[in-house]
Amino acid sequence: MRRIQHFIDGELRAGTSGRSSDVYNPATGEVQAQVDLASVAEVDQAVISASAAAVEWSESSLTQRTQIMFRFRELLAGRVDELARIISSEHGKVISDAAGEVARGLENVEFACGIAHHLKGEINEQVSAGIEVYSLRQPLGVVAGITPFNFPAMVPSWMFATAIACGNTFICKPSERDPSASMLIAEWFIEAGLPPGVFSVVNGDKVAVDALIDHEDVAAISFVGSTPIASYVYNRGTAMGKRVQALGGAKNHMLVLPDADIDMAADAAVSAAYGSAGERCMAISALIAVGSVADELVEAISTRIPDIKVGAGDEPDAEMGPLITGEHCARVAGYVERAQEAGAVAIVDGSQADVPKSGFFYGPTLLDRVTPEMECYSDEIFGPVLVVVRVETFREAIDLINSNPFGNGTAIFTRDGGAARQFQHEVQVGMVGINVPIPVPVAYHSFGGWKSSLFGDTHMYGPEGVRFYTRAKAVTARWPDPSSSQIDLGFPRNN
Ligand code: NAD
Repeated sequence: MRRIQHFIDGELRAGTSGRSSDVYNPATGEVQAQVDLASVAEVDQAVISASAAAVEWSESSLTQRTQIMFRFRELLAGRVDELARIISSEHGKVISDAAGEVARGLENVEFACGIAHHLKGEINEQVSAGIEVYSLRQPLGVVAGITPFNFPAMVPSWMFATAIACGNTFICKPSERDPSASMLIAEWFIEAGLPPGVFSVVNGDKVAVDALIDHEDVAAISFVGSTPIASYVYNRGTAMGKRVQALGGAKNHMLVLPDADIDMAADAAVSAAYGSAGERCMAISALIAVGSVADELVEAISTRIPDIKVGAGDEPDAEMGPLITGEHCARVAGYVERAQEAGAVAIVDGSQADVPKSGFFYGPTLLDRVTPEMECYSDEIFGPVLVVVRVETFREAIDLINSNPFGNGTAIFTRDGGAARQFQHEVQVGMVGINVPIPVPVAYHSFGGWKSSLFGDTHMYGPEGVRFYTRAKAVTARWPDPSSSQIDLGFPRNN
């Protein structure tokens, strides 16, 4: 059985804790590898290595960092398929989808290639006679990233690209369900010339996460995962005096107004609800149909569902793969069953779908006449389940979205520019799509939700990522003629 170790100090390290976890192939249901789960002592080794590496790396020139990042970008761009295959085999998503995730991750690396521009400080000459004030941004030291199973390459790249380019050393704790992508990335960074210890991978579970949060030499924690764990990591990390950005779960609404193009809205809803089997933090999971649009829209979506090709990720024509585990598959099925007991109408019931019998497959599901009190609306199901809530007015739709505790992403489909403008202005959600169902910002903007989809002050990657991974220093400087020096006990004023 393949064993997935740690990557510390530039090399593979076998785990010594005696604990490990199964890594499945979700398309077959078989265990394909065992991943070592780190002990506190192993996390400590990674932090010692990262701290030692931080001494030189923080002093490396912008030219050196940029050149290494460029080389890494070239390696990654040439190996998208290799990475996509390993992602697909551990996560289950189809290879084309996995390649898309790598492509979006690559954009973060490309952003980091331009880090010199983003680290420019500001200067004011002559703030007072003969005095300049300028600002610098300096790295924090050792920073850690804890990532979820659903984007095993893209989400780590939201963090490591900027963190490393800013002069920090980075320890990744990937999801124990699909850890191999991070291990490959660690090897490729060494090949690109990154010094040992600048990028490490510690595999593990809660023990490793807690050890990273509690370690006094880890300056900042970036987390992406479910809301309860995001809240926990944020509270524990900030209590330790660390910077923490913790992105949580989601329930993303797509609002469709009666003037929308029905076919375009239906295509978008199907793509965004069932792509990656709904296991995306930006998946559309609630469709809000305003007024007369509902019947036509539900019909248009339901006629598209039978055409979705469900199959193993490496089947050439598969469009939707399995869920991550058997346990998660059963959880999704439970939601669909209870929704019907609560009065929702299953227009398409995924439990009846003709999907492969081995592995953790569940068919695309469409639930109509869902009400906000139902559990299938209030909970993040994280599966291929789209719930339709019918409302009478645009106002009702916005109020419904704003009363939801999550605020990650949302989308409006309409041909009315005024309505779209009002929506973008009033909606209490961090990322908004206008006729765009999955509005993940490009790498040179930043990614983050509102409310219980994000704990902390900065969004991830882009300009906010640079702020998160650096601290500001303001310098006030003068070069007077020493002969003019005199004592003045008054508070210094500018004149
Ligand atoms: P998860 O919260 O179970 O796990 C995330 C990470 O936390 C993993 O590395 C895991 O090992 C660790 N972890 C799990 N339980 C822990 C505990 N009790 N204490 C400490 N650490 C713990 O999330 P997941 O199931 O891997 O990912 C799916 C979730 O992530 C969904 O809720 C999804 O919406 C969310 N997500 C959010 C975003 C976003 O940008 N907001 C992006 C991707 C995924």
